[in-house]
Amino acid sequence: MDEEPSASEEAPAAREEEEAASSGHHEGLLFSLRYLGVWDLLAVERVCRSLRFAVQSDSLLWKCIHIDGPPLSERITDEALLRLAQKAQGWLQCLSLVDCSKITDDGLRRVLEISPRLQKLSVSGCRRLSIEGLIHNLKAFESSGLSSGFTGIKQLKLGRLFSLLPEHYEDLRSLLGRNEVGCQPIASKPQFYHCGVSSLACDDDRAIDIEICPECQNLKFVYDCPSESCRAKGLDHCRACDSCIIRCSQCGRCMKDCR
Ligand SMILES: [Zn+2]
Ligand SMILES: [Zn+2]
Ligand SMILES: [Zn+2]
Ligand SMILES: [Zn+2]
Repeated sequence: MDEEPSASEEAPAAREEEEAASSGHHEGLLFSLRYLGVWDLLAVERVCRSLRFAVQSDSLLWKCIHIDGPPLSERITDEALLRLAQKAQGWLQCLSLVDCSKITDDGLRRVLEISPRLQKLSVSGCRRLSIEGLIHNLKAFESSGLSSGFTGIKQLKLGRLFSLLPEHYEDLRSLLGRNEVGCQPIASKPQFYHCGVSSLACDDDRAIDIEICPECQNLKFVYDCPSESCRAKGLDHCRACDSCIIRCSQCGRCMKDCR
C-alpha cells in the first residue's frame, strides 16, 4: 500500500503535469486500483482527497466485493456491507462473504435490493444467515430481476454451515437452474479435497457448491479424486463426500492411494 502512492512521484515530469490536471495521480496507479481488494480500496480512500475521489467515483472498482477473512469478515455489519454495496451503484456482480458472522438475512436482503446485476454469491460461514431467509431473499431477488431484465444469481456458495433439507436444495437448484443450459455437474472442473478450501466465488464454475453425494445420498461437499489410478477408472469413480471417502488433506487423494 505504501509503495503505490510513491510510484506517482517517480513519473516523468511531463506526464505528471498532464495528469495533474485530471486527478493528480499517475494513470497506472489509477489503473492498478482495479486489482485491489476491498480492504486495500478502503485504505486507498484514506490516502488523500484525490484518491478518495478516484475510488468513490469509479463504481466498477466495487463490482466484485470479497470479504473473505479477518479482520473485515469479523467486523462487517449489515450497515457497513450496505455502504460497500452502495459504492458499486448497482454494478455489484460478485459478493463473497466468508465467515461474516454479523451479517443477517435482513442485511443481505437490503444489499440484494440495490444490486440487480449480482450473479455470484458466497455466504459460507455466515452464521447468522438462515437457509429459509436466504431462499426467501433469493426468490425476491429473482422475481424483481426478471421483471427488469436481469439474469439473477448464477452461482451460489453455501459452505458447510447450513443444514439443507432436500426441499431447500430443490428450491435453490430451480432458482439457479434458470440460468443453466443443460449444464451437467460433470462438465465443471473437478473438485479436490484439501485443507486450504478455496473461498473465492470467482474461481469456481459450479452453480452451487453442495450436491447429493453419490455414496450416501446426503447433501454434502462432494470431491473428485486426483489419484491417477482412480481417474483412470472413470470420472465418477472415487467421487463422494468426505464422510464417505476419507482423503488426504495434503493431496486430496483417497487414503488407499495416498502415500
Ligand atoms: Zn469476485
Ligand atoms: Zn457421502
Ligand atoms: Zn496425500
Ligand atoms: Zn481415489
